[in-house]
Amino acid sequence: MVNKMNKPTKFYDDRLKLTAYGAAGEVGKSAFIIEDDKKRILIDAGIQIQPKDALSLGPNGLKKRASELDAVILSHAHVDHSGYLPALWENGYHGKLYMTKPTKDIVQLLWQDHMKIEGERHWTPVGLERATHSIETMMYRKKREVVPGVTIEFFNAGHILGAAMVLIDWDGFKILYTGDINDAQTPLYNGFDMPDGEVDVLITETTNGLRKVQPRAEVNQQLIDEVLDTLDKGHKVIIPSFALGRSQEILTVLGEQITEYPIYVDGMINKMNAITEKYLVKNWVDEDILRRLKREKTYTPFNYSNIIAITRENVNHPQAFRDFIGKSDEPSVIVTTSGMMEPSPLHTHLKFVADDPNNLIAITGYQAEGTMGREILEGAREVTIIPGWKAKPVKIKIKAQIKRFGFSGHTSVEGIKTLVDTVKPKQIYLIHGEMENQNQIAGYISNGVTPKSLVENEFEVLAKFPRN
Ligand SMILES: [Zn+2]
Repeated sequence: MVNKMNKPTKFYDDRLKLTAYGAAGEVGKSAFIIEDDKKRILIDAGIQIQPKDALSLGPNGLKKRASELDAVILSHAHVDHSGYLPALWENGYHGKLYMTKPTKDIVQLLWQDHMKIEGERHWTPVGLERATHSIETMMYRKKREVVPGVTIEFFNAGHILGAAMVLIDWDGFKILYTGDINDAQTPLYNGFDMPDGEVDVLITETTNGLRKVQPRAEVNQQLIDEVLDTLDKGHKVIIPSFALGRSQEILTVLGEQITEYPIYVDGMINKMNAITEKYLVKNWVDEDILRRLKREKTYTPFNYSNIIAITRENVNHPQAFRDFIGKSDEPSVIVTTSGMMEPSPLHTHLKFVADDPNNLIAITGYQAEGTMGREILEGAREVTIIPGWKAKPVKIKIKAQIKRFGFSGHTSVEGIKTLVDTVKPKQIYLIHGEMENQNQIAGYISNGVTPKSLVENEFEVLAKFPRN
């Protein structure tokens, strides 16, 4: 290139760009690169679980960009944000991976669990180990420079343990990425925290769209009422639950209100409870729960005498113990993985509980298409289960009552509106939600700015930086 003065001018791109590699007009495989001509930062790299037995998908086109990245940030541990990360180190990335301390504990467990499910689908143990060694942990509300000129700061997202909203200061230009946020008062968090000042760009999740989110206190009470009603009549309750987040919320509520009956806790929930117990301090959870624990002179909400963990350490032979409680007439609650009723300890419990119309199966989370949970919710009353490690599949009838409770881990649209009104962004980008939801909420949250839905692999210009 030659200018009028006949001096060669160096080509440069003066734009700050944002590109989605997933979670554009959908939920799953979140991955976003923010870049100018000198530096590139990736936020999140998740996978997308597919219906039925199909293999998960990684972010579209991210692999070939791994070697160009200067820093990687993880908002929270859920696999749709974290499940692809180890692949980066196998494709030329050499830098750091920033996350909160609890996220570090949880994500390592989830990565190992994912290997058991999908093997080396996206990455190998080598990538896992290199990713693990590259982790740098941060507290909420503490700034850190991750690349010269780029500072990040985490805010409590109120979503799951350690989840963060990420504020990026790029040479003075401020970008706020919500990750997954919840505005509800839940048993462990009191809604999301947010930056004090204004931002230039907001990139926000839209999972719930305009769907009305039922107040959490109401949902908790409904669950307690239904569970107690079933127990008082002498029957059993199964609560299929996600190991991370929902289980701790439910146990925190059940443990406080149900004292007369055993509450069995099965599956990976027990490991997640143990991690959660490490972080029951002011930095990571709401003060309400800490006040309650102090009042009750205990250090954890998961350790009442009627809460019984079905682990090898606790019951010696978990499978025999499941059979034992299944065959016993004692009314009890079983909180167990999998949240979507896929093969897991839940199936063994179902074998004993499902065929009695007096028992209750309480659905407490989202049931994805193609899962057994969705099948049952849609009316299937005969399903195939795998009742134990290496057991043969068997068909069972579902005669127990099926009830669904309106829990949500994501913010209401009012929560997004409050965020927009507070941080007053000049540009708003919508991610992590179905297109029809995004189109509906765009007008509602706009605040004079027209929100735009990101499109996979198409970049948006966030700013232009004049250069000399
Ligand atoms: Zn999440």
